[in-house]
Amino acid sequence: DTGLGSWPRRRARITPDRIALSLGTRTLTYAGLADRVSQLASAWEASGVRGGDRVAYLGPNDIPAFESLFAAALLGAVFVPLNTRLSPREIEYMLSDAGVSVLVLAPTHHHIAATLGQVPDTVRQVLALDSATCPLPCADYEQFLDGGDRAASFPPVGLNDPCLILYTSGTTGTPKGAVLTHGNLTFNTLNQLAHIDVLSTDRALGLAPMFHVTGLNQVILPTLFKGGTVNPVPQFDAAEVLATIARESITSFSAVPTILQMLCEHPDWDRTDVSSLRYIVYGGSPVLERVAAAWLDRGVQLLQGYGMTEAAAGVYMAVADGAAEHPISVGFPHFYTDVAVAENNNAAPMGPGRSGELLVRGPNVFAGYWNREEATEASFTEDGWFHTGDVVATAEDGWACVVDRVKDIIISGGENIYPAEVEAVLARYPGVVSAAVVGVPDAKWGEVGAAFIVTSGDADCDEKPVIDYLAEHLARYKIPKSFRFVSDIPRNATGKIQRAQLREVAAADAP
Ligand code: AMP
Ligand code: MG
Repeated sequence: DTGLGSWPRRRARITPDRIALSLGTRTLTYAGLADRVSQLASAWEASGVRGGDRVAYLGPNDIPAFESLFAAALLGAVFVPLNTRLSPREIEYMLSDAGVSVLVLAPTHHHIAATLGQVPDTVRQVLALDSATCPLPCADYEQFLDGGDRAASFPPVGLNDPCLILYTSGTTGTPKGAVLTHGNLTFNTLNQLAHIDVLSTDRALGLAPMFHVTGLNQVILPTLFKGGTVNPVPQFDAAEVLATIARESITSFSAVPTILQMLCEHPDWDRTDVSSLRYIVYGGSPVLERVAAAWLDRGVQLLQGYGMTEAAAGVYMAVADGAAEHPISVGFPHFYTDVAVAENNNAAPMGPGRSGELLVRGPNVFAGYWNREEATEASFTEDGWFHTGDVVATAEDGWACVVDRVKDIIISGGENIYPAEVEAVLARYPGVVSAAVVGVPDAKWGEVGAAFIVTSGDADCDEKPVIDYLAEHLARYKIPKSFRFVSDIPRNATGKIQRAQLREVAAADAP
């Protein structure tokens, strides 16, 4: 059995009494985690959940998130962590697209559950972490788990079996589920371990949300693989995180640049002892120079990684030796991951002086999009290289930088915004003839969206109702921060929006 679900039991053979998970006053040893994971998996099996079924989780980073991940994996079921920032419409879409049969629901998201227009009828069980206040008919998580067998055994799960579905939008505007196998997650863990010095004595903070591939894969899974301790963080609060780092002697975490900036620019920063921290892995975009300096001054290694959901997630990552001298570099390709440059849809060797769209291949690269054969096929070359849509350049000394994106994507506080998705929703608003959304630089979020809207002559469109309408259909972070009602949108001969031109306009008179 090479499945992820076997990890807690395997770790428990070596280090049964070490703490695997710790949150507030609650701790769980590896032996305790292995028992609870078996119990949950066997209770699910008894209630009819089978290998291949989809189990969704809607809630914060928390101990039950890990229990359900490993229990689903042990059973060969596919875990679908849902982005907690999405609107009820988007959640509904994902539940039904993935054909979810079990939904594990945290009380922090009861309000979303309460406003779901419809729970898809594939959902046979809502397992509530707080059943007393859950607005949907549900079973109680703790009671249900308690009924399971801690000594149960399950058929082996293989490296090619699907383990996770993570939703990621695309240029087409509809979110697609990227299917990651047990092998993808395992090889990504090995890749991470080849670049970072993870120790069995580490205490990692589970800060980045688990519904993003980086939240789970950059630091958390490697730490659990080594037998270290993970402290999940249910909700980000800069003061609380700084206090936790000092109190729990945190050694490591992964985050996005906005979070790193919020921490080192917080009033408590100067009086917080962060000396226990050895390394931080971050990605999405480079950090500002002053942010890098603030962490480096405190003796913390900052390692930038570059990757994507489809690569589970790491493709490039910096290494400790030389990272301080290459603050905006993403370092080197991962151990088991091969990179190339696209030339006429063929893979040409990557190296200094070569530039073009990056292609990637390796055992960490995903199996395909859930139920989207065409989209899957279109994302690979004939030789099985995945098109990243990003441009990476390698310097003479081998250190690489992400220099451009071929695809239209806005990264705002670490969340990806796909303009096509927002534009498609805007276009459905009464009176809107066409719309374009572009990214503009922002001091806090890195980038934010700016909307350009063309309305039909007689239509009476206003910013406020448009924002209300968007909020109904899209996650908050996807809503543009500025709106311009214009008479037309510049397009090239093939009708493609000339985004560079709009970006200039939006940046020039940014509020
Ligand atoms: P996601 O779909 O959330 O996995 O986002 C992946 C995309 O984020 C990549 O294809 C890149 O465009 C972008 N990205 C990730 N890491 C970096 C980085 N270190 N620098 C610049 N862009 C990045
Ligand atoms: Mg993506």
